[in-house]
Amino acid sequence: MKILLVEDEAELVRTLTQSLGTLGIQVEGRGDGASADAALQQHAYDVVVLDLALPRLPGLEVLRRLRQRNDTVPVLVLTASGDITDRVYGLNAGADDYLAKPFELSELEARLRALHRRRLKSAHSVLAVGALALDTISRRFTVGGQPLELPPREHDLLEALMINAGRPVNKLLLADRLRSSDSVLSHDALEVYVHRLRRRIEGSGAAIHTLRGLGYLLEAADASPA
Ligand code: CA
Repeated sequence: MKILLVEDEAELVRTLTQSLGTLGIQVEGRGDGASADAALQQHAYDVVVLDLALPRLPGLEVLRRLRQRNDTVPVLVLTASGDITDRVYGLNAGADDYLAKPFELSELEARLRALHRRRLKSAHSVLAVGALALDTISRRFTVGGQPLELPPREHDLLEALMINAGRPVNKLLLADRLRSSDSVLSHDALEVYVHRLRRRIEGSGAAIHTLRGLGYLLEAADASPA
C-alpha cells in the first residue's frame, strides 16, 4: 500500500514514514497543501492522510479540489483532538474517515488497511479496459473471459495500471511498488516489464501508453493518450 501523508509537522512525517514503512506501508510525505495538491494531480495513491491545518493551502481545500476532480482515493483526515467542527467539515468535504491527534500507530494502521480494503471491494469489483478485466477481490486477470496468467511483477504492474486506468501512473511509484525487499527497481528494469506486458495484452483492446515526464497510462487501445 502506498499512501500520501500531508502533514506540516516534519518530525511526525519522519516517524510515521519509518514506522509505517516497517509495516509494509510506503509513505510519501508533503509538508504543505499546495505541494500535496500538485502531487495528487500527478500521482496515484491508495490512501491519503490529510492534516487540516496546513501552510499554503488548507487541508479542506486540498480535499475539495480532489473530489472536484472526481478522484475517489480514500482520505483519512487528521483532526485536532476533540475538534468536532474539523471532523464535520472534513466528512462533508468528502473525507472517508478521521483520526484525532495524538493517535496510536496501531490505530492509524488499522484505519489505513480498512480504507484500502473497503476501496478495493466496494469501488470496483471488476475493472475492465477493452476485453481486459481485473477482478479486484480475487486479483485475477482475464482477456475476453479467458484467464491471463502473469509473473508476479508483471501482475503487480498491470494491477497498478488497471486500478488507475485512464490516469498516468508515475514511474517512480511503479518502481517502488515492484521493488523487492532489498533492491530498488531500475527504470530500465521497469521498461522491460512494461515491454513484456504490452506483448501479453496485445489484441486485448487495452494499451499501455508512455507519457513523457508523467509515467505510464493504461486505456482502451482505440483511445488516444491524454
Ligand atoms: Ca498541521
